[in-house]
Amino acid sequence: MPEMHADLFSAAYLVATIFFIFGLKGLASPKTALRGNLFAMVGMALAIATTLLNPEVRNYNWIIGGILAGAAIGITLALRIQMTAMPELVAALHSFVGMSAVLVALGEALRHSSSEISGVMATELALGSAIGAITFTGSIVAFGKLRGSFGSNPFTFPGQHFVNLILGVVIIALTVKYAMQPELMPILLLTGISFVLGVLLVIPIGGADMPVVVSMLNSYSGWAASATGFTLHNNLLIATGALVGSSGAILSYIMCKAMNRSIVSVILGGFGGDAATAQTKTTKKPVKSAAAEDAAYLMDNASKVIVVPGYGMAVAQAQHALKEMYEVLEKKGIELKFAIHPVAGRMPGHMNVLLAESDIPYDAVQELEEINGEFSTTDVVLVVGANDVVNPAAKTDKTSPLYGMPILDAYRSRQVYVLKRSMGAGYSGVDNDLFYYENCSLIFGDAKATCTAIVNALKNA
Ligand code: NDP
Repeated sequence: MPEMHADLFSAAYLVATIFFIFGLKGLASPKTALRGNLFAMVGMALAIATTLLNPEVRNYNWIIGGILAGAAIGITLALRIQMTAMPELVAALHSFVGMSAVLVALGEALRHSSSEISGVMATELALGSAIGAITFTGSIVAFGKLRGSFGSNPFTFPGQHFVNLILGVVIIALTVKYAMQPELMPILLLTGISFVLGVLLVIPIGGADMPVVVSMLNSYSGWAASATGFTLHNNLLIATGALVGSSGAILSYIMCKAMNRSIVSVILGGFGGDAATAQTKTTKKPVKSAAAEDAAYLMDNASKVIVVPGYGMAVAQAQHALKEMYEVLEKKGIELKFAIHPVAGRMPGHMNVLLAESDIPYDAVQELEEINGEFSTTDVVLVVGANDVVNPAAKTDKTSPLYGMPILDAYRSRQVYVLKRSMGAGYSGVDNDLFYYENCSLIFGDAKATCTAIVNALKNA
């Protein structure tokens, strides 16, 4: 590429990177998320256009074919995907990034003779392929777990951490061997072993801990893309991959803190253990059931109500009925707040997105640390399709897979109503102690129908 061209391309890539940074900044809050997405889209359009104009691109046929096929699949998926299936889709997309890193690295390894591959380049190829392979199979397992195909229970075996450690050491040894002597065998071997390691790192993760893994794989996919950037000598890919990698790592750290888990044990696969194994306990203890009108009656006489939304709100699409509930109560001078647990739903920020979609004011929506002290002074808590995030067993039962995770202290309020369809467990697969508390009643049925019935009863009260 002539020097002037090279400068121009570098400048365009730099501008695209700046757009991505503003995009990420915008995504930090629901208020600015739309603008953030727009910035990111402009950055991506600029990045694609710059790459296509690169004089080194000699044949557009494969590129156009790839863009058309990718766009067709992407548009179909985006139109058909249910909001509740987004986390699986994200896991599937991470696996694509992982696989492309493997293919690019192996493609480059095959394309060059061993004398053309320097030690530095060989290290880049080996690392790119290894991180990509771990991301690929790890994401496939995460996809299966989130989809429910493999069940959400952890799969552990004796000496699991030791096996992971050995595989990690073998991958590093093969990387060194490949860097010293870039023959095909070491890179193929280390890629194969990395595929196995990806599976082993994710299978021991139990249901309730999956959010941390999803954000960790997000981070890995960024590093895989960055490694591909090194392989292809593409600065934009290096920078963008690093942005995704580091923001995913920060998110993992935040999720670990929210779940009270150690980030080191997440990276090593499994959370300290062979400890708690989720079991769906079918319990015969009696629960109290109530009608929507009972909840409406108490809410009508309350001064403060808190809604705890969970995955079931997303399934039922009850957020619009909740917005109506907010308006009705506001007119009556009754305070309604929404309490968001960091792992409620099936992806980080899931509840915030849905509540923002129905135009519930942001200042009525509060995070766990902000609102947890308020439950003891709350008259009524409405748990709308949430389960694990309000399970007191996380505080009291050391054998529970939830043990140690901070919960929303709904049980401290005067009266709790839990809206759900059956006695079915939450994602972690364990029974919820809250359901048997004196101050708790269950309102069985679809959350949207129940919320609508409560709103109607409130209007008529
Ligand atoms: P849970 O998965 O614990 O519980 C969901 C509840 O919703 C169930 O009790 C279910 O009961 C009920 N439900 C489902 N559909 C409906 C419906 N149509 N109407 C009414 N109720 C319904 O959800 P939480 O949000 O409390 O917790 C999230 C869990 O998911 C945590 O364990 C978390 O670790 C995990 N997770 C979170 C991720 C994230 O990033 N946020 C990612 C992966 C996992 P029933 O079937 O009886 O109706």
